[in-house]
Amino acid sequence: MDFEVDALAFGAHPDDVEIGCGGSIAKLSREGLSVAIVDMTAGELGTRGTPSRRLEEAEEARKVLGAKFRENLNLPDGNLLLTKEAIYKTTVVIRKYRPKIVLMSPSFERHPDHEGLHSIVRKAMFLSGLKKFETIFDSKKQETWRIRKMFCYMQSYQFPVSSYFFVDITDVYEVKLEAIRCYTSQVYVEGKSNLDEPETRLSRPEFFEELEARARYFGTLVGCKYAEAFYSIEPIQLKSLSLLI
Ligand SMILES: [Zn+2]
Repeated sequence: MDFEVDALAFGAHPDDVEIGCGGSIAKLSREGLSVAIVDMTAGELGTRGTPSRRLEEAEEARKVLGAKFRENLNLPDGNLLLTKEAIYKTTVVIRKYRPKIVLMSPSFERHPDHEGLHSIVRKAMFLSGLKKFETIFDSKKQETWRIRKMFCYMQSYQFPVSSYFFVDITDVYEVKLEAIRCYTSQVYVEGKSNLDEPETRLSRPEFFEELEARARYFGTLVGCKYAEAFYSIEPIQLKSLSLLI
């Protein structure tokens, strides 16, 4: 059976995914994209309901959202920690579903299990790309899977106001340099710049090295060769998470 999906949403407890990002999942499903939901625990410590009831509810909710798959990892509720078992099971589902986007709890949250989920998923996402970290699913050794699109949905705590994002400029980096080199009065261009004028930060030959080092650094943060960094003053609105795929 082919389990590959476009998006994989993790929740510490059944209903976390619905509350945190149910609308976005429904939207992805309606756009014809496939979504899997993985609940880490059955919520057995919850004040209301029983684990079996919550499993049934989760299955109903899956249908409503139009998600293709849902499963429960049966890790301990109230004690969702970065254990070997948790990391292994989470890596197995990442490699099983091979998602393009992963959704999860933020790292700073009111419920410690939400923070636990964040660190488990982050670790499993990294390990799922490593060939020597072997996992078995359906009696077969799994292929590695690497993804860089991970987003945290908001739960109890509000996110900090600003966040960075980057634009891949690899294919136009030379064009950018060419444009900058037009300013021969400002930057160092061999044979064209007047070396008798006072030196500035930009007019030093090293300026281009700094420019490249910075663009390369931003690129390494997002997995491309060169990037430019931005941050948004206003909150960003997307019509759907599918626009990021
Ligand atoms: Zn929760």
